[in-house]
Amino acid sequence: MLYQGSCHCKAVKFEVVAPEILEADHCNCSICSKSGFLHLIVPKSKFRLLAGEDSLTTYVFNTGTAKHTYCKICGIKAFYIPRSNPDGMDVNVNCLDTKPKAIKVTEFDGQNWEQHAHEVEHKSKET
Ligand SMILES: [Zn+2]
Repeated sequence: MLYQGSCHCKAVKFEVVAPEILEADHCNCSICSKSGFLHLIVPKSKFRLLAGEDSLTTYVFNTGTAKHTYCKICGIKAFYIPRSNPDGMDVNVNCLDTKPKAIKVTEFDGQNWEQHAHEVEHKSKET
């Protein structure tokens, strides 16, 4: 199903193809909790920017892998390129104008991302 989405001032408009029942991730990391981002991760081919390329600006921090694109007029981050899936697009479910039938939310512990990454590294050294 095709969803229409936008930022608050509607300068940025996009559409995304996703299932009727959305599977979204709720993340507790520093930026997601402050910005109220509800993640819908899709392949880039399912996402299309319709308007507002000139209104987007990019914020980068930490590893610089994630590209946090937000509207420079209203400041809303409607989508961005996530660190977990640099080849995909992460859409903010809260910015969809088409409302899904239902949303299945999974909790993601992004606050301890570094800790988990370290554990994986540690494990591979032991074996
Ligand atoms: Zn805007």
